[in-house]
Amino acid sequence: MRTVALVAGLLLAVLALAACETDAAGESVPAASKPAPVDLADGRPLRVVATIGQIADAVRHVGGDRVEVQGLMGSGVDPHLYRASESDITRLESADAVFWNGLHLEAGMSGVLERMVDLGVHSIRVTDHIDRTRLLAPPEFDGAYDPHVWFDLDLWSTAVESIRDALVAMDPEGAEAYRANAAAYIAEIAELDMYVKARAQEIEERVRVLITAHDAFNYFANRYGMQVRGLQGISTESEASTADVQELARFISERGIPAVFIESSVPDQGVQAVIEAAAARGHTVTIGGEIFSDAMGAEGTEEGTYLGMIRHNIDTIVAALRKA
Ligand SMILES: [Zn+2]
Repeated sequence: MRTVALVAGLLLAVLALAACETDAAGESVPAASKPAPVDLADGRPLRVVATIGQIADAVRHVGGDRVEVQGLMGSGVDPHLYRASESDITRLESADAVFWNGLHLEAGMSGVLERMVDLGVHSIRVTDHIDRTRLLAPPEFDGAYDPHVWFDLDLWSTAVESIRDALVAMDPEGAEAYRANAAAYIAEIAELDMYVKARAQEIEERVRVLITAHDAFNYFANRYGMQVRGLQGISTESEASTADVQELARFISERGIPAVFIESSVPDQGVQAVIEAAAARGHTVTIGGEIFSDAMGAEGTEEGTYLGMIRHNIDTIVAALRKA
């Protein structure tokens, strides 16, 4: 009996190990799986769940009508703080695969994702094939990588390739369709990438600074030659202090920056406090508009798509900062 218990205990330990891995920062993360073909003999579509809208949108583009995609987080939802609901868990349990960011973006979902791996749901981290040297690892994020990779459109193309490869592995019969769909989507992303680059240059360099509620735009800044300052850190899990507000207000006043931006998925009190603190220093800074960071816009709108939200963001940013 004791041997049986021991073996069972060991087996559980092995399973628990299999469900997670250690990342660059030495933290445990749910494991990725090497997806195997799924039995679709009855002609049903591949059933997939995606965490954030940007990923769901990419899987829909690549998957076409062979894949049924359910997105967990809708417009205005903050993925850093998101916890899976009971209905999310039901959806995940009946899915063939879950596609997620994987760089601690879905910090509150780790336990649920680990359990899904145990249940045999394929786990696809869409950032896994991005060259690690191109990932940002800001010191204040404790050595972990910045997860907001969709703001570098070139990096996001790599995520789309990972999605394509996972779909091909799970549904080899659809390979040709997935490859064609991915190529078409990547071409659209590349075209938008050039548009964003060109538009960013319309802003005078002194004020080419994107100030937002949280540090979601470092990849955007890097690729498109902007400076970026977020009030909260990389994750909204940490809150801004009065000193952070004052420091940012001083920077804005000294630079003469005309506008700051609110994010659709983050409460705007912090940004409002910065505006007031700048006013107290005699500098008027306005809200340049709402931009989309971690969540896309409402379903059915232009901003409710990945390409649409990126276009909206750059157009909004340029309109507000070009006036300077
Ligand atoms: Zn974020």
